[in-house]
Parts: sequence; C-alpha cells; structure tokens
Amino acid sequence: MAIVHRASPLRIGPLTIQPVSDGAILQMPPASIFKDAASEEWQPHVPLNAHGNIELALTCLLVRVGDRRILVDTGFGPRPDRPEVGLLAQSLAEVGVSAEDVDTVVLSHPHGDHVGGTVLGAGEAATPAYPKARYWLGKADWEHGRQPGAPVVEVVQEKIAPLHAAQRLDLADGEQEIAPGVRLLPLPGHTPGHMGVAFTAGQETAVYVGDLVHHALQIDHPEWSPVFDSLPQLSRETRQALVERARREGALVLSYHLPFPGIGRITNAGWEAVAG
Ligand SMILES: [Zn+2]
Repeated sequence: MAIVHRASPLRIGPLTIQPVSDGAILQMPPASIFKDAASEEWQPHVPLNAHGNIELALTCLLVRVGDRRILVDTGFGPRPDRPEVGLLAQSLAEVGVSAEDVDTVVLSHPHGDHVGGTVLGAGEAATPAYPKARYWLGKADWEHGRQPGAPVVEVVQEKIAPLHAAQRLDLADGEQEIAPGVRLLPLPGHTPGHMGVAFTAGQETAVYVGDLVHHALQIDHPEWSPVFDSLPQLSRETRQALVERARREGALVLSYHLPFPGIGRITNAGWEAVAG
C-alpha cells in the first residue's frame, strides 16, 4: 500500500475539517500552469522535479459537523496504471471513515481529478461510490457538461450521469447552505459552474477554493490563468475578488492542488502556508 499524507484537522467552531489526500499529480508541465506569465516571472520561484515538472497535490476534505459527514471532491479514483493517485479510500480509513459514513459529497467541478471517485464500476454498471450520500454539482457545469462537444462531456457521462440516473444528484444554483456553517460558494471561471465551499462559525471563516488556484504564485498574480480554465477572463476576475476578500477577512484558504495539506492565509506578503 502506498503511504498517504496525514494532516491535523482544522477546527472552526463546531466544524472539523480534515484534509484527506488522494495522492498527487507528479508530472504537470509548468507551461500548463504559467501560460500567462513570462518565464523569468515564475521560474526563479518554482522548484521543478527531475523531469522538469511541477507536482500538484490532490487534497479532498472530510467535514464533520454534528452527525454529518461531508466529503469535498473525490480524487481520481483508483487507477491501476497510476499508483500515485486514488488513495482517498485509504486516507479516509486512516481517519476512521468509510464510504458508507458519508452523507453528502460536494463536487467542485467535473474534471477527472475531482470526480474520478464518484462511482464504482463503469457504464451501465456504475453505482455511487458513497452509497448513502447525495452529491452536489454546480448547475451550470451539469448543463454545460452535457452539451455535445463540451470538453468535459465524457467525464460527465462516466462520472456524473450515473449519479443523476440513481437520483442522487443535486444541482447548486448560487450560494446554498448544505449543513450548519457549510455553504456552497460559486467561484466560476475554471469551469462555468465551478464552486468552492465556505465554512463559518461566528467570526471565523475558511474557504475551500477548489481549482481557483493551482499554484501559490497565482495569489500574487491572480491574472495568471492556467490552460485548464475554460473561461479564463472570468476565472481571473473570480480569483482577484476571492484573494482580496480572503486577505481582508483573514480567512483560512483551503486549496486542492497546493502542497499538502494546502491550507494557508493570504497576507500582504502573499500565500502563507499553515502547517497541517
Ligand atoms: Zn484539479
């Protein structure tokens, strides 16, 4: 068995937010992330691995509040050809949670590294991997993702349509509270319906930003959109607004792809990671 990352949970009032790793993408070409930047702007600040690539973490969240168990994003799912991903079930087991315990799954957007673990099996035989859960997806991503020719049409067909067929899919249109202190937050641009999750208790706030950010340098340069943003200008504007708001409010920011556990604050000096 692969060794998975562990982190301490974050506590916000009655909410416990546990980072749970699905592994990591080991071979991300930096040009995919920094296409909007001149090389001298990013190269001095970005360590590359032996293959000249960036590594991206895959950090899902397990949120406990009362007797609720909410999973945010589902990772790649098991991939026999890629032992470095698909570790989420193991990470959940290490914190004492099984798939049956999860009552709600939030899907930030329908890309394979976030929704790969939604179902077990394939095609007609696909069944929800979290058998007691309802799943949330942004309405715009569902509608856009079913249009012929949409870049995500295959992923939606394989990983989301079976949830819809099983009547487990709920579509979010705007902000939506899904549990006390847990609110779906539209952050459009990476995909049309891309959404994060806001966690609040009293004056404390944390926000999961999904793929609004792929690298910490985008905190200093919110105008840099990676090749994966389907609506890059909207993504830039959403990122700019979120960065300013998180800085102003002193919110904790939880990211999917920044180095595990991907938690930090945004200060005038940029991204400051918080140890997990
Ligand atoms: Zn992603």
